[in-house]
Amino acid sequence: DNLISQIAAGEVVERPSAVVKEVLENALDAGASNITIRLEEGGVKRIAISDNGRGIPQEQLPLAVARHATSKIASLTELENVATLGFRGEALASIASVSLLTLTTRTADAPHAWQIENGKVSPASGAPGTTVDVQDLYYNTPARRKFLKSEQTEFGHCAEVVRRIALARPDVSFSLTHNGKAVDHWNVSAIEKRSAQILGDAFSSARLPLDESAGPLRLHGFVGLPTASKARADAQFFYVNGRFVRDKLLTHAVRAAYQDVLHGDRYPSYVLALDLNPALVDVNVHPSKIEVRFRDSRAVHQFVFHAVSRALAQTSA
Ligand code: ADP
Ligand code: MG
Repeated sequence: DNLISQIAAGEVVERPSAVVKEVLENALDAGASNITIRLEEGGVKRIAISDNGRGIPQEQLPLAVARHATSKIASLTELENVATLGFRGEALASIASVSLLTLTTRTADAPHAWQIENGKVSPASGAPGTTVDVQDLYYNTPARRKFLKSEQTEFGHCAEVVRRIALARPDVSFSLTHNGKAVDHWNVSAIEKRSAQILGDAFSSARLPLDESAGPLRLHGFVGLPTASKARADAQFFYVNGRFVRDKLLTHAVRAAYQDVLHGDRYPSYVLALDLNPALVDVNVHPSKIEVRFRDSRAVHQFVFHAVSRALAQTSA
C-alpha cells in the first residue's frame, strides 16, 4: 500500500510547488484569513504553512492523512457541485508518503493543539488553526528527487503558485519566506491594490476593468493594454470559480479578442475570473486540476471572447 501511495503521490505532488498548492487550498477551504508560507531550499528541505482556519478536531486527525479521506464531499451529488478547492482526499496522504509530515492543529474550542506525526497523535501547543510542516520531500523516492531542478527554479515555481492564489484572494493576507528571508507579504486589501502589488504598477496603470454577466456566466477582472503587456509577458491569470486554470479554450478566447480588437498583440496580460454554476464545469480532469471541461464550451468561448472584446474596444473607440 505504501508503494501505491508513492505512485499516487507522484501524480499529486510532482514537485514542491504542487505541495504548496494543495496545502494552500486546504487552508483556504478551512476559512483562513491569514496564511504564512515558509520554505527552505526551494521547498525540498521544508515547506511549513500555517493558517488561522478552523482547524481539525482531534478525533479526525488520523483521517486527515488517510488516503481518499475527505471531509468535503458527503455524496456523489455533491461531487457534481464541488465548490471547495480540494476534494479528492488524497493530497495530505500523498504528501505524507513522500516526506516527513507533521500536522499541528487546533480548533477554536479546543483547550490546546494536537499534533500528528507518523500516525501518532499527541498534545501540542499552538494557536487555533493549522500548521502543515513538510520536511525532506522525496527522501524515500530518489528517482523523483532527481527530476527536481535547481533550488531557485523550484522556489520560483512555489512563489508563482503563491502569487496565483494571492491574486484570487485579496481578502486573505499571505506572507512568504525563503531560507529565512522575507520574499513577499500582502495584507488584506482590495483587488486593485493586490494586483498592483503582484503584477506591478505598469499593469495597474494600463488596465481596463471588466465585469459582464450572461445567464449563468460571469466574467470579471482586468485586461491589460499592450504597453502593459510588454512590461510583463507572463501576466496571464485566469480563474474558474476561484481556481487558477491554464485552459486552451479560455486562453484562445482571450487571445482571439486581443487579435480582433487590437490586431495581434502577442502578449496579452490579464487577470480574469469566470464564475459559473459548478455543475456546468468539470474540474476533475487531471490531478493537477489546472484544466477544466465545460458542459457547453462553445457558449463559454463566445461569452469570454465577446466580453474581452468589448472591454478592449473601450480604448480603440
Ligand atoms: P481534501 O482537501 O481533498 O479533502 P486533503 O488530503 O487535502 O483532502 O485533506 C484531507 C482533510 O484534512 C480535509 O478534508 C480537511 O478535513 C482536513 N484538512 C487538511 N488541511 C486542513 C487545514 N489547513 N485546516 C483544516 N482542515 C484541514
Ligand atoms: Mg486538499
